[in-house]
Amino acid sequence: MSWDVVGIGENSVDSVYVLPATPQPGGALAKMRITDRRVLCGGQAATAVATCASLGLRSKYVGVTGSDDNGRRIRAELERRGVDVASIITRDTANRFAVILVDASTGERIVLWDRHESLRLREHELPADALASARVVHVDDVDEEVAIRAAAAARAAGAIVTSDIDRVTPRTTELASSVTHAIFSQHVVAAVTGVDEVEPALRRLRSRHDGVLVVTMGARGAAALDGDRFLQEPAFHVRAVDTTGAGDVFRGGFIYALVNGEPLEQALRTGNAAAAVSCTRLGALNGVPTLDEVRELMAANVRG
Ligand code: ADP
Repeated sequence: MSWDVVGIGENSVDSVYVLPATPQPGGALAKMRITDRRVLCGGQAATAVATCASLGLRSKYVGVTGSDDNGRRIRAELERRGVDVASIITRDTANRFAVILVDASTGERIVLWDRHESLRLREHELPADALASARVVHVDDVDEEVAIRAAAAARAAGAIVTSDIDRVTPRTTELASSVTHAIFSQHVVAAVTGVDEVEPALRRLRSRHDGVLVVTMGARGAAALDGDRFLQEPAFHVRAVDTTGAGDVFRGGFIYALVNGEPLEQALRTGNAAAAVSCTRLGALNGVPTLDEVRELMAANVRG
């Protein structure tokens, strides 16, 4: 079996609490009633791969689950969504979980999480055959060592390698250099370069990275630097109820477009559309769009 996309990294089971505002200590917002609560599946790589599967790509997830009910839940959910789960490793511990506080007035959220050390993926657990034959290998930034190794192997085999770079660590630039398409959150680019504005920040990064550099910018959409060509695509207007997983769904839409040979502008647009649909629903995997939903949003927003 050859895969359109193999995604390596994090999964999570999230207890999502919807609140009327963002909590703050010491005042009226220190205590509030929960409007809605659900247990929903997510995690960076798992959500990106589930998006790829939903859009029609042959998709495989590689990561570690726990042996508890949450581990069973995430495995069943990925399988139900058409993701290949044969390379998932299960360890005898609790699955990674998170408590997510969603501010219903903005859709913005706070994520509190925990993960047992033994849930770390190890290099010898990577499915070498799947990596060697995949068209796209997607890695997140949770287990950087294994992400860097997987990216190097896949790149050597000629794959497109995309990444999710959401936090700054001593190995962030090494991870970005190991992939063909580095997809950063905006705050990471600002922190790594010391430049707040996106275009000059990407141009500064260019001296260290020769691949395509992509930045997600929340409600402002996404931008990229391809060689010395700077591109920017605005976000789609939706009523955002929860932005959890939006960055991961963006990556899934972006990968879908790359697999289909679409130009970079269109890949940013497809990523933005997929992510915007996901913002209209609670949760990460729960927000994963269908291809029809993505196409409808793009068709309704044709410009020019
Ligand atoms: P992350 O949380 O990973 O930093 P972002 O906040 O940059 O991710 O969001 C990822 C993508 O989701 C954006 O590039 C954009 O396409 C989409 N998005 C995020 N927030 C909104 C919003 N309020 N309305 C429409 N699209 C959004």
